[in-house]
Amino acid sequence: MTGTKFKVAVCGGGVGGLTLAVALSKYPDVEVEVFEAAKQFTEVGAGVGIWPRAFKVLRKLGRGIDHTLMNAATDFEMTEDFVPALSYRKSDQPEGVELFKLMTKGDLMKIHRADFHGTLLSSLSPSCKTHTSKKLVAYSQPAAPQKSPIILTFADGSSSSCDLLVGADGIKSAVRGCMMREIAQCLSGQAAMSALSCIDPIWSGAIAYRTLISTEKLRACAPHHRALREPTVFFVVYPISKGKFINFAGFTLSEELIRTSYHADTSGRKRFEGPWVQELSKEEMCKPFEGLEDDTKPLLKCVDKGTLWAVHTVKPLSAHYHGRVALVGDAAHAMMPFQGSGAGQSIEDAYLLATVLGHPSTKLETIPRALAVYDKLRRPFSSDVALRAKTNGQMSVWQARDIPLEKLGETMTKHWEWAWLSELDGALHDATKLLDSKVPSTY
Ligand SMILES: Cc1cc2nc3c(=O)[nH]c(=O)nc-3n(C[C@H](O)[C@H](O)[C@H](O)COP(=O)(O)OP(=O)(O)OC[C@H]3O[C@@H](n4cnc5c(N)ncnc54)[C@H](O)[C@@H]3O)c2cc1C
Repeated sequence: MTGTKFKVAVCGGGVGGLTLAVALSKYPDVEVEVFEAAKQFTEVGAGVGIWPRAFKVLRKLGRGIDHTLMNAATDFEMTEDFVPALSYRKSDQPEGVELFKLMTKGDLMKIHRADFHGTLLSSLSPSCKTHTSKKLVAYSQPAAPQKSPIILTFADGSSSSCDLLVGADGIKSAVRGCMMREIAQCLSGQAAMSALSCIDPIWSGAIAYRTLISTEKLRACAPHHRALREPTVFFVVYPISKGKFINFAGFTLSEELIRTSYHADTSGRKRFEGPWVQELSKEEMCKPFEGLEDDTKPLLKCVDKGTLWAVHTVKPLSAHYHGRVALVGDAAHAMMPFQGSGAGQSIEDAYLLATVLGHPSTKLETIPRALAVYDKLRRPFSSDVALRAKTNGQMSVWQARDIPLEKLGETMTKHWEWAWLSELDGALHDATKLLDSKVPSTY
């Protein structure tokens, strides 16, 4: 490509990787190649909720993405008013009661993951090269000279090269593994051990039970069921796919493990036994929720089967970049799903990273400086969201012990309002200011 300032390889074509590739298409002097491990670009069959803060970032991508998403979403209203997003119930009794409605400034976009992912995929620029069945196993980054390419090695024995590698390869990130080993080599003793201890994800103590329920089936069995009209949390239920399905995500949590997740010392911590994702029969899917309020019974009756997800997280990393390698999304900060924000944080990472890479001052030789700005502005924020997500999970399950029930709504809302009262714009502005200035490449 003529006039190219550098070539970016994006490892992983999930929400984070594709958002980055779309965002980079604004900058014709940045060449982009996406490498996806799976045989095809795909997403899990479930719903995803996108809060106003992340939706505003998606709007910035242009290419009509916001309208396509709005058309695919269910009951989504473009508004700046406060609207009810989720109705939280006290369900551990035969007749449940509403505890509070989570009121958000702007609507929660509820969408099938396949529709969301498909919209990003079809918005890629024709100049963006994509590859499937390319599972990265390792990379090697020359320490010097700075302009030598990074070499990527794939599971099929092939290789490729790039100037900058972005690990958007999810919770089990191969890029994070290599990067933390590189970082550890620059350290010694406890600091090196600590870097290495961040490679493997840790089990959070939560298990997610996910399925889709046919709306038609639920309507036939309970025509006025609340799940048909309002997103509700006994377990989480909300309509997706233009009302064709009800997305169901229920959780079981181990109190001890949740409390101690994100702790520095994870040695001796209980591991999840068995595959992290497992297909479940109807009985296995429903069992954990059988004792809940009567209103949940028609939902459980309509379940056909489900999937178990052992929720793992990534320990807070000391950096989300090293040299000319950076991490976005779950690869950097896989978090618990109790603020429905992991995908949103991937989107924010991707957009800010594209902004610093596209900045006129970012050249091949100043990539580490741009990545330092990305790290400085994104890592504290996403780490904070991860902690908030954990606290939300604790509050919604063990609320009675820690917070008076009547205070729960107020406390949870305060804790979560960053997702609709704040915007990424401040960080985007700060990034541009830092890159416009003559600040040296290390901070
Ligand atoms: C039960 C549950 C509910 C959730 N609900 C929400 C929600 O409502 N809202 C929200 O914002 N978030 C939610 N999340 C979190 C969200 O799903 C994730 O944070 C998000 O999908 C992360 O996106 P990602 O692109 O970083 O990673 P991923 O989506 O995991 O994508 C990684 C991609 O990389 C590929 N890959 C992996 N390894 C390699 C390799 N070695 N080489 C090449 N490619 C590779 C994978 O095949 C995949 O395509 C939820 C999570 C769970 C578990």
